[in-house]
Amino acid sequence: MSPQAKSQRCLLKHLHQSRGEAGYCDGLLGRVKNGQIAAFAIQHSFPVSKTKSWKADFVITDKDGLILEVHEYKGFNPSDDNFRLKLALFFERYADRWPVFVNNKQVFPSKSGHRIMNLPPKKKRKIPSRPFAGRR
Ligand SMILES: [Zn+2]
Repeated sequence: MSPQAKSQRCLLKHLHQSRGEAGYCDGLLGRVKNGQIAAFAIQHSFPVSKTKSWKADFVITDKDGLILEVHEYKGFNPSDDNFRLKLALFFERYADRWPVFVNNKQVFPSKSGHRIMNLPPKKKRKIPSRPFAGRR
């Protein structure tokens, strides 16, 4: 088993999926302690379609708990299909709300417009045409 795949506790005693993810959490804690960010939360679930949700590793919030940024730590397989699909669905729904960072690198919105990482081409995405007709 690779050390990346071994779960590990961070300084806040969360049980993370890998040493890298625990380290990312410790990094965010450091940013709280030095006043760069107000707070953060782990494993925040965003509904991305009627049947799917994406559980982001971390969200950075203001002091009132409002989400400012979404962060994901990806270890040995940073672009697996399931992750890319959920990220694509997330962008469809939330693109104008929160910037997304993967391994501390902002992947959306990018400076060049709406190009995102290596996401699958639009025609191959399994996205329902009207995923959120119900709630506004
Ligand atoms: Zn943690």
